[in-house]
Amino acid sequence: MHPIHINKAERDFGACLKAVCPHCQNETEFRLRMRSGALRLVGIVVADLGGCYGLKCNGSGCKFWKDLKDDELAPAQTAVRLYSEMVAGELSTEAYAKSLDALDFPTIHALRKEAATWSCPACAEKVPLTMNGCWKCSSPRPGLAKSELAAGADRPPVPYAVTRPSNPWEQ
Ligand SMILES: [Zn+2]
Ligand SMILES: [Zn+2]
Repeated sequence: MHPIHINKAERDFGACLKAVCPHCQNETEFRLRMRSGALRLVGIVVADLGGCYGLKCNGSGCKFWKDLKDDELAPAQTAVRLYSEMVAGELSTEAYAKSLDALDFPTIHALRKEAATWSCPACAEKVPLTMNGCWKCSSPRPGLAKSELAAGADRPPVPYAVTRPSNPWEQ
């Protein structure tokens, strides 16, 4: 029996989006990458397993990966170029967002939509990023600095109808 090895490689094409990762809840860059594999028999490639493009969270230890469809490769490359132009200061944040909106790139649009919320670790509720506590069970948002928690500035007040004491004459 000859040893058969599968060589896996990942190629990086650069970042294309900065957003909160739906998996690790950290604000990170999403990078366009290609995973490829080749079947090797005693060092010789006997089968090319092909490549698969995806967006990967750059957060340390996070394994979030979203597969891209074949026809998303072109818009993904455009998104990488737009992002690098924004980082270089050649493109304003608004112009970058506008150009991104115009791209036919369903995966990145879904990711941006997902990134506008965080998932409560206690009850799995999707909560908007503008809130630091879960609106269902009031658990604090994970990954939030203590100072931000103490401030609680953007937590909306609980409506009076919920907090008022019950009236014995009211049935
Ligand atoms: Zn992540
Ligand atoms: Zn909750």
